[in-house]
Amino acid sequence: MEETADGVIATNSRNEHFFGKAAIGADGLRSNVRKLISHDQPVCSKYVAYRGTIPITEISRIQSWMTSLCGLARTCLHVVQYPVRRGELYNQVVVFETYEYKEDSDDWGTPEEMERRFQGCHPLVQQALSFIQRQIRWPMYDRRPIDNWTKGNLTLLGDAAHPMLQYIAQGGCQALEDSSYLTAMLKKYGEKLRKSFS
Ligand SMILES: Cc1cc2nc3c(=O)[nH]c(=O)nc-3n(C[C@H](O)[C@H](O)[C@H](O)COP(=O)(O)OP(=O)(O)OC[C@H]3O[C@@H](n4cnc5c(N)ncnc54)[C@H](O)[C@@H]3O)c2cc1C
Repeated sequence: MEETADGVIATNSRNEHFFGKAAIGADGLRSNVRKLISHDQPVCSKYVAYRGTIPITEISRIQSWMTSLCGLARTCLHVVQYPVRRGELYNQVVVFETYEYKEDSDDWGTPEEMERRFQGCHPLVQQALSFIQRQIRWPMYDRRPIDNWTKGNLTLLGDAAHPMLQYIAQGGCQALEDSSYLTAMLKKYGEKLRKSFS
């Protein structure tokens, strides 16, 4: 992405160029568009998440409650469970703070560490853990606030602007709110794009 006097040029991996009057960087945590506005880096929280869904029919066999949050604050362990897809599936998210963080390495917050960290928890938590998928590890990042998410004809939304940690599960919701507000401003100010972005 490049700024020009009267707009922006986006170049893809095939070296094709796309010209526009403005650009909205909705390109997530590691946003390339943000690099044109700030030189900051994502900040690792040292928390990691694992997730997994199971058929809702499994739940009645396991436990009677449908939605729960176990916040084990002292040891920084969390298990969140809720029904998704019209109640057909049950989603589970396990989050914990690693004790094994290594900068420049992915060898921390592993499934093995998850097992160790949750050892001795209540049997319902242990049961939840047995359904969690181990293949995908989600290290959790955010960023330090910056003064402005807009520069000239460029602006950011969602995680590109303000990635959020997992508490209250707001990242996706905030990205939607950003786009809704931006749409309202673009309708209000029309061609005055900089005014919409400011
Ligand atoms: C484990 C986990 C659980 C979460 N749970 C919740 C939850 O329950 N509720 C909630 O509201 N939020 C949740 N979030 C946060 C939520 O996923 C994000 O906040 C949200 O996806 C941000 O949306 P976004 O559109 O800004 O960015 P993204 O969803 O990251 O989308 C960015 C898009 O840009 C694309 N992209 C990036 N660079 C380029 C490029 N150079 N060229 C072309 N495309 C590019 C990416 O491929 C991606 O499709 C969770 C996050 C994680 C990691």
